[in-house]
Amino acid sequence: MTAAPYRIVEMETHDIRFPTSRELDGSDAMNPDPDYSAAYVVIKTDDGFEGHGFAFTIGRGNDVQTAAIGALKPYVIGRDAEDLGALYKELVNDSQLRWLGPEKGVMHMAISAVVNALWDLKAKRYGKPLWRLLSEMSPEEIVDLVDFRYLSDALTPDEALQILKKAEPTRSAHVAKLRADGYPAYTTSPGWLGYDDEKLRRLCKEALDQGFKQIKLKVGADLEDDIRRFRTAREVCGPDFPIAIDANQRWDVDSAIAWVSALREFTPHWVEEPTSPDDVLGHAAIARGISPIPVATGEHVQNRIVFKQLLQAGAISYLQLDSARVGGVNENIAILLLAAKFGVPVCPHAGGVGLCELVQHLAMFDYVAVSGSLEGRVIEYVDHLHEHFADPVVIENGNYVAPSMPGFSAEMHPESIAAHVYPGGEVWRDQ
Ligand SMILES: [Mg+2]
Repeated sequence: MTAAPYRIVEMETHDIRFPTSRELDGSDAMNPDPDYSAAYVVIKTDDGFEGHGFAFTIGRGNDVQTAAIGALKPYVIGRDAEDLGALYKELVNDSQLRWLGPEKGVMHMAISAVVNALWDLKAKRYGKPLWRLLSEMSPEEIVDLVDFRYLSDALTPDEALQILKKAEPTRSAHVAKLRADGYPAYTTSPGWLGYDDEKLRRLCKEALDQGFKQIKLKVGADLEDDIRRFRTAREVCGPDFPIAIDANQRWDVDSAIAWVSALREFTPHWVEEPTSPDDVLGHAAIARGISPIPVATGEHVQNRIVFKQLLQAGAISYLQLDSARVGGVNENIAILLLAAKFGVPVCPHAGGVGLCELVQHLAMFDYVAVSGSLEGRVIEYVDHLHEHFADPVVIENGNYVAPSMPGFSAEMHPESIAAHVYPGGEVWRDQ
């Protein structure tokens, strides 16, 4: 791959918030009133290209997240987006910034936003959707994108290379399959905790009619409510339809085991985020305690090292990477490789704003170039806020349609940005 010389000359940030708490969209046991937000970054080059990226937050603190992204401006001005392995490693290993993590929290999410914006820029420059750009890189080029520090006891560069080479012969067939059929999706829209039973029933029916492969219910606030809601969903969906449950970190280890045991008769497809995302041994204990019901987690897992431990401990049966929490595309490639090594399916997290748009590219890249498999794999889908994006996700027959526009699908319409800037945008005035 080559490109004419160019330089990044500008980096803008925007604190963008959507007033989703007014409708209880996105409500769960730990997050009763989220305002879906994006700490948003636009990187501009001297030859007229733009790369867009963001960190997803749920309202308060989005100003802090936006300021953290702004602190990275000196690292990208004057650079280009050609060697993103080197630039990513430079950002995460900066000795002074690293003190703020290392590789976790607000600064790591800021790096994620910038790294993802650089990938959006690069894919646009090459005229390809990101999943295609990544899938056309050689196994050696992909390995060079990954920081293997702290991984070598579980995954070496050589093992990663073997995984990627194994998927090479089926790459073009899998691209063709994705372009023909898309990638399977499940929906969380029926299951928000703030919805009444009638709305739950109606949305379950709609999910089935729309061809989704699975639904998910939020649980963990009140056990009697959860039993009633799960029973209602089972009545509508039937005995065999996959219904996952998501506690959003609500429980301690023992209460997770007890609560899930009380829901066992409804056969949860997986139990998501039963406890703290940092508690590797706790997840392993829960997995043993509720077996054979599978445990899933990942949307709040802060980096590849914690994912490594979850896999080594046999703590998760589904890995739910998030496109905008760990260090962007590069660290997510490391996580996809780890999951492939351990044979655990990746079912990405994609609630929020813009996360569906981003993560479809990573899941499709995984199918083409990493795991080479769709077995047990579904991408989360939530039907919120897609209208604000220039290249919104498209769902057909319960599948994500493979994106065809150049870029990482991260770009919001300028008028959406202007209207939702906090606190001055028109949707926030007079509140
Ligand atoms: Mg979740």
